Amino acid sequence: MKCTFCGNQAVYLRPYDKLSLCVQHLNEQMRKRVQKEITKNKMFGRKDRIALGISGGKDSVALLDILHKIEKNFPESEIVAITIDEGIENYRDEGLLYAKKHVSKLGLEHHIYSFEKDFGYGLDEIIRILGERGKKREFGACTYCGILRRKLLNNAAKEIDADVLVTAHNLEDEVETILLNIIRGDIQRLTRLNPKPKKIHESLVPRAKPFRSTPQAEIVMYCVINDLEYQEIQCPYSVEAYRGEVREFIFKTQEKQPMLSFNILRGQDKFLNLIEGGHTKGELKECEKCGEATAGKICKSCWLKEQLDSR
Ligand code: SF4
Ligand code: ZN
Repeated sequence: MKCTFCGNQAVYLRPYDKLSLCVQHLNEQMRKRVQKEITKNKMFGRKDRIALGISGGKDSVALLDILHKIEKNFPESEIVAITIDEGIENYRDEGLLYAKKHVSKLGLEHHIYSFEKDFGYGLDEIIRILGERGKKREFGACTYCGILRRKLLNNAAKEIDADVLVTAHNLEDEVETILLNIIRGDIQRLTRLNPKPKKIHESLVPRAKPFRSTPQAEIVMYCVINDLEYQEIQCPYSVEAYRGEVREFIFKTQEKQPMLSFNILRGQDKFLNLIEGGHTKGELKECEKCGEATAGKICKSCWLKEQLDSR
């Protein structure tokens, strides 16, 4: 198989447009797509302090590498890494190691926050306190984990004075979120999945996802061809994820319809264009306990804290 662009040995065949790519051109295509996403959605300013959440998994490791290359052209901007330690035994330590390794190799600032230190309870402890799912515990572990990670990432980004908070969600992650919101009928949340970072509330740092249109398979390939080590083992709680079923649907259907995820993402972007200006409705209030933006009286992390403290 020869590279469509240069005729050299190809290492990857893109299923959705049948382009075969050599190492150099796969790297170039990946960088171009991220660059385009950043420019099109005005994700960063030239002098921004960019906080990047890095877990040590393939997505964040690859994004760090690509962003670092892109940002070399913008010497006044700066990437600062943030890692959240959820407190998951036999899992998080390994990811943390990879995160530290890649960040220090590039000589960047690295800030590590932990559920235990910054919230008072690690995830293992939360799950132990709340008890078995379906009996005492209402939600899967990922729900609690997601609430707290979101909160801590935002707090961290505020503390380090970041202009924008970047996460490494890839195409299928984004499509999964879109579909889940549709399944739950949560159109309000769908309107907030805006690719353009926006200050929707004083307490929230604008967020950006430069990998939102990059397929997972290409990210894995990028790590392989660039010798980027990452954590491969799955989180022990991932079996509890409701997302799993939707995820399976996406990857299965994609085998027959390679454009599936791109089509769904494009549909979401068109939907946002149609309602542009209307998405601020259903205003966010301030949490009575911590002051952070919330749709209810108190935010979800304060709600969780109340539950845990009362047991
Ligand atoms: Fe948290 Fe779930 Fe991810 Fe594990 S799989 S780190 S519990 S969100
Ligand atoms: Zn709160």
